[in-house]
Amino acid sequence: MKAVRYLGVNDVKIVNDLVKPKPSGDQVLIKIAGAGVCHSDLHVIDHGTVPGPFTLGHENAGYIEEVGESVSGYKKGDAVLVYGPWGCGHCKPCQQSFENYCDHQSERAFGGGLGLDGGMAEYMLVPSSRLLVPIYDLDPVLAAPLTDAALTPYSAIKRSLNKLTPDEYVVVMGIGGLGHTALQILKETTGATVIACDISDDKLNFAKQLGATYVINSKDTDAAEQIKKITGIKKAKVVLDFVGAPSTMELGAQVVSLNGDLTIVGLGGGSLSVASGKIPFGTSVTMPYWGSQAELVEVVALARQGKIHIEIEKFPMDRVLEVYDKMRNGQLKGRAVLIP
Ligand code: NAD
Ligand code: ZN
Ligand code: ZN
Repeated sequence: MKAVRYLGVNDVKIVNDLVKPKPSGDQVLIKIAGAGVCHSDLHVIDHGTVPGPFTLGHENAGYIEEVGESVSGYKKGDAVLVYGPWGCGHCKPCQQSFENYCDHQSERAFGGGLGLDGGMAEYMLVPSSRLLVPIYDLDPVLAAPLTDAALTPYSAIKRSLNKLTPDEYVVVMGIGGLGHTALQILKETTGATVIACDISDDKLNFAKQLGATYVINSKDTDAAEQIKKITGIKKAKVVLDFVGAPSTMELGAQVVSLNGDLTIVGLGGGSLSVASGKIPFGTSVTMPYWGSQAELVEVVALARQGKIHIEIEKFPMDRVLEVYDKMRNGQLKGRAVLIP
């Protein structure tokens, strides 16, 4: 079968001769309908953050093709999402649905497309039926990015929900795959006023369409002053940084309020000094990772209610290298989804 293989730093190849896996036990074989392209792939490809070789693609959806002999409750043709972070399944966080925070994360390859074979392929082997989430009437091509581009911002927003009241401000940085979904989730689940930041005016226009009240180009040297002019002295109760670059992290620290939440989701290589005078008193700095499987069920419900729409651009799998280049250059709107 055809697949997009990560072989090592800057070495990605499309192959045609990968053996189609055969599920056994609790394993399930998925016929991939769509695989979302996440910016985290670029961190792997460009910097080798995860050892290869493996098939890329950690935002996956498709149809059940075949199930192992001990799987029940699923049949051929059912439309499903593949929950991405594959924990041990036994520790307390896994039992609580937070496989993204599995106790054994440091000693395991952590999911299809991130060390194990993922979904940029015709078929994907999922190690256990517990990792599937049914999507019923949703189109799996449109739904594939829900597994990360929606789940990750949803989980990040949920942990700050009590602070996102109508009298408060939230700053969202990076209006790409994750950020454009975050804007929709904020609009549907909170009353806070949204200030969106990006370095591209196209993305800022897009942010306005998605409900941001204010947009700021974070290339402006006075971006922090512009934000503080909007919020007044209280500043932003929550900052969601979907870039994580040195400049966005510095901006976040300047505009987050006392007793606020500075939530860094992007893996853009920045760092922060947490010290008196650098971060406001009372403020929590967190680096959340993905979300729980229960939260993915909630995200699917939001999508089925028509409250979030991932803006997708479809590409045939053969164009994957071009898609990664477009992503490096910030030329994708919303999320690119590869079709095998
Ligand atoms: P993307 O490429 O779709 O979007 C990135 C956006 O950031 C683009 O709109 C780009 O114009 C904008 N941008 C770039 N530099 C900027 C700057 N200095 N200031 C403001 N905006 C800037 O990326 P994505 O797939 O949405 O992923 C975003 C980040 O989140 C990546 O670093 C990715 O690795 C990370 N990520 C983290 C998790 C997690 O669980 N922590 C999960 C998924 C993705
Ligand atoms: Zn991702
Ligand atoms: Zn575990």
